[in-house]
Amino acid sequence: MHYPGQVSSHERGNRLTELHQTITGFDVWHLSLPVTSRRDHGIGRVENACEIILLRLTAEGGAVGWGEGSPWSVFTGTPEASLAALDRYLRPLVIGRRVADRPAIMEAARHAVAHASEAKAALDTALLDLAGHIAGQPVWALLGGKCRDRIPLSVSIADPDFERDRALLDRLVGDGIRIVKLKAGFRDHAFDIMRMERIAHDYPSLRVRVDFNQGLTPEEAPARTRDMAAFKPDFIEQPVRAHHFGLMARLRAMIDVPLLADESVFGPEDMTRAAGEGICDGVSVKIMKSGGLGRAQEVTSIAAAHGLGAYGGDMFESGLAHLAGTHMIAATPAITLGCEFYQASYFLAEDILETPFAVEGGAVIVPDAPGLGARPDMDRIRKFTLAGPTP
Ligand code: MG
Repeated sequence: MHYPGQVSSHERGNRLTELHQTITGFDVWHLSLPVTSRRDHGIGRVENACEIILLRLTAEGGAVGWGEGSPWSVFTGTPEASLAALDRYLRPLVIGRRVADRPAIMEAARHAVAHASEAKAALDTALLDLAGHIAGQPVWALLGGKCRDRIPLSVSIADPDFERDRALLDRLVGDGIRIVKLKAGFRDHAFDIMRMERIAHDYPSLRVRVDFNQGLTPEEAPARTRDMAAFKPDFIEQPVRAHHFGLMARLRAMIDVPLLADESVFGPEDMTRAAGEGICDGVSVKIMKSGGLGRAQEVTSIAAAHGLGAYGGDMFESGLAHLAGTHMIAATPAITLGCEFYQASYFLAEDILETPFAVEGGAVIVPDAPGLGARPDMDRIRKFTLAGPTP
């Protein structure tokens, strides 16, 4: 007998057989998504729009899977490079392969193109979404199961006009958000101190994190990092350039709040080195840096093995990439410091998902529907496309 909603063993067998069908379609779009404000993040600025890459895989039976690459030129790379990586170099590794071949496809992708981690993240996401729709399972189930239903959300404060950010802070508190991250190091030190004081005084319910996004020079980093540490934020992130491992280690030793690495750690190899050289107390784990959900989990495992913390970071993304990160975090117990999937709700003029990315009471809600749990709306793809096939 079967409980209501239970899949029979015959049906389950069919679905597993269906994972052996081949992938026949590979379509790539370059989108420009208008944003509602300017944001300064240490070494770079985003205004007017952010650009993303969308990938749609189609299996021979007609099922489709979606993935997003969310590059930022000063951080991970350019949208043009992501597009070329997918369209020219990764496509031949995918067409004609089985849906079940994800581990082999991703291993080949690692070696076919250097870097281009956002393109690989888009591919891994689309393969998992496709397999999830065919198997009737959410992506978190394909990653082994879930350890949480809700993920605390941190929203970044990064407008060069702090009065505009005050309006955002009022809205966040009203929405039940409990964590914000102050983006610092893009203007003078007094501006950063003023904002820390104002947030601590006017918004006592908020926990605060600080992220310099590599914005400090080696000369100014010690004093400015120490002054921010005096406010006792949850952590201070990446004060200096990614390759300054020695300086990161010295700054870490100097302060008594955790120092986190973001730009210094892309994949598992960087994480191993960062842990070995003692540059951080924790890490920002991003599928766009590591090149997929599987490798993001590897980064987290290495961090956890060294006693380091982790949170789920993001790039300038739509709700589609947020969903990929959400499933990855749902399946990864060691990511205990929440996530930053706020753009779909608080930054984009309009998200691309058919159903809104779910945030309730200060937390992202983990979807239980098959695949990623939501798909892009084709009309919005049409509206925001810079290049790609007619949907
Ligand atoms: Mg960061």
